[in-house]
Amino acid sequence: MSILERVKNLTEKECIVDVLRKELADNKCKNCGKCTFGYEGATQLEMVINDLAEKKARPGDLELLEDLCSVMKDQSMCEDGTDIALAYLEAVERYGKDLKDHAARKSCRAGVCKRFMTYHIIAGDCIGCGDCIDACPEDAILGRKKFVHVINQSECIQCGACKEACDEDAIVLAGAVKPRCPQRPIPCRRN
Ligand code: SF4
Ligand code: SF4
Repeated sequence: MSILERVKNLTEKECIVDVLRKELADNKCKNCGKCTFGYEGATQLEMVINDLAEKKARPGDLELLEDLCSVMKDQSMCEDGTDIALAYLEAVERYGKDLKDHAARKSCRAGVCKRFMTYHIIAGDCIGCGDCIDACPEDAILGRKKFVHVINQSECIQCGACKEACDEDAIVLAGAVKPRCPQRPIPCRRN
């Protein structure tokens, strides 16, 4: 299936950024180089799509890609380059909001891109043992003995060490839908 067909046949559970990223990872233009727009265009597209998936997008990235692909679809010397450009333009048409949400570093609707997943401590399951604090390499967890612990999302690097350390299975990984958690440590309901 070509990258264009892949974009046209995306399922609900898939993320457009993730699909483009995988498709572009082994695109033929990268290893060809016979035409500038095919080679440079595919390389640039891959870099920006990777940035979208990694929550590193900059203002203007989406506009840049649209301009690039509008030219690339006509100026590439073979079908491979044209296909890549048309696939991105199709993605804008069908999944523009998802692309914008990634670009704004806001969310991954499908809950697929790892950088948009977040760890949370479920208040009713936490016994306030502190094992997660000991495991966290970023000091991103607030709490004390017998208090429900809380993850500071701005410090968390999504390494997952806390989830592994928690014997109570109180820590969950969430995609687009986030669980409701206390903002700061509160006394545990469990002992
Ligand atoms: S989240 Fe788990 S490891 Fe952390 S304090 Fe609560 S029960 Fe202990
Ligand atoms: S995922 Fe890693 S960085 Fe984030 S709170 Fe857990 S241990 Fe700390």
